[in-house]
Amino acid sequence: MNLNEKPLSVAVYPGSFDPVTFGHLDIIHRAAKRFDRLIVAVLNNTSKMPMFTVDERKDLLRQVTKDMPNVEIDSFRDLLVRYMKSRQANVIIRGIRSISDFDYELQLASTNHQLDSEIETIFMMTNPKYSYLSSSIVKEIAKFQGNVQDLVPLEVEWALRKKYTRQI
Ligand code: ADP
Repeated sequence: MNLNEKPLSVAVYPGSFDPVTFGHLDIIHRAAKRFDRLIVAVLNNTSKMPMFTVDERKDLLRQVTKDMPNVEIDSFRDLLVRYMKSRQANVIIRGIRSISDFDYELQLASTNHQLDSEIETIFMMTNPKYSYLSSSIVKEIAKFQGNVQDLVPLEVEWALRKKYTRQI
């Protein structure tokens, strides 16, 4: 194959991002360096009760990735493999924090491979600094007005504060 004809490598990093944390952001930074384009895709999952709407989550993701020109923020409510085809992407990025993540992620990756064998899942190990970090933990701390400044970007900290002061 002529190298000039090499297709663009497009990866999708799917997730709830409710809200985005430094753990997610670390994966985004690292993945964006490895692919021509990285699409961070917020799952519009009607069976979960998210704290932030899909638009709010996308908005926060856009703000915290604005210095990364090859990162695009999108959302989807279709089957992931079908969404990937529509975006001409063939790599799924997922993060692994622990053995407990691994079980679930393996099941997910195997299912996606079964549905479309052209699609490859690539796992990125968490930055050890963030191995304990999840969106749920952040929401739990913020609910009790705890300090989340080491866990999420400033924009997310403000958004959390706004949500919780509205609820009090
Ligand atoms: P989902 O509901 O799809 O698990 P999340 O937003 O919780 O969505 O996570 C999206 C992806 O990011 C998952 O692969 C998850 O394992 C990974 N992830 C979440 N937090 C971290 C972290 N602190 N370090 C590395 N990967 C993470």
